[in-house]
Amino acid sequence: MEIIIAKEAGFCFGVKRAVDGAYNETQNKDKKIYCLGEIVHNNNVINQLKKEGITFAQSIDEIKEDNIKLIIRAHGIDRKIYNVAKKRNFEVIDFTCPLVKKTHDIAEKYHKIGYYIFLIGSKNHPEIIGTSSHCGKNYSVIESEEELRKEINNINSLKIEKLLVIVQTTFSKSKFALFEKIIRETINPKINLLINNTICNATGNRQLETEKLSKMVDLLIVVGGKNSSNTKKLYEVASKNCKSLLVENYEDIDLKFVKDFDKIGLVSGASTPIEIVNEIADKLKLL
Ligand code: SF4
Repeated sequence: MEIIIAKEAGFCFGVKRAVDGAYNETQNKDKKIYCLGEIVHNNNVINQLKKEGITFAQSIDEIKEDNIKLIIRAHGIDRKIYNVAKKRNFEVIDFTCPLVKKTHDIAEKYHKIGYYIFLIGSKNHPEIIGTSSHCGKNYSVIESEEELRKEINNINSLKIEKLLVIVQTTFSKSKFALFEKIIRETINPKINLLINNTICNATGNRQLETEKLSKMVDLLIVVGGKNSSNTKKLYEVASKNCKSLLVENYEDIDLKFVKDFDKIGLVSGASTPIEIVNEIADKLKLL
């Protein structure tokens, strides 16, 4: 059996920065450490960090003590949370990915000069919740083509002069290309349109590599959290071209199913440690 591991497998730089930083913080035990939300969509990493003393809270209201350290993960947060943390004397350790921060800055800059904003992405995704808090009042979060067409009709009927389009850093490149085409073709030409593709290269390159690899192998295994949006997108890309599996670790793999394939590719979501991918490759080689 031949195994090919994607070059882009393992953490992206934003997640690596957050995870390494969180481990670093555990070296200093002067304050209790909380992290808002899962730092990565990966149970192995979460369990290890819990052992090192980090408590994961789903919301700031769950945290009852004051004077703690609060880790912000790479997805970023709603800007209101910074104010609450300040009032409660939390020491904020901010690992919001610089590329997510850049999207926040773009949203801030343009909503302040009167742009309506189309924020393309998944409504309930933490990154979109964070970014939307930088969009002022005049914005729409758009996830599907149907929603996009509806919002364009809406914008065309209102007296909107300027429109900015930004996008979740982990959104599908091909889907965004389609959205961009629809916007350019159907928006009222009098509207001053600014499209800023904020999909990050780490995501885009992973999707491109997944597509390429899925045309070279018989089976592509996508390793990542089942609730991770960028992992699910890789699986979607892979499934179009070859048999594909989405697994969190080696234990999830149906060995009876995979053992008959000659050429297997391995790709991973941005929040999967490379060690898990390597472990899968090593064990599959022994089948
Ligand atoms: S996927 Fe891109 S934007 Fe998101 S954390 Fe990783 S490097 Fe940053």
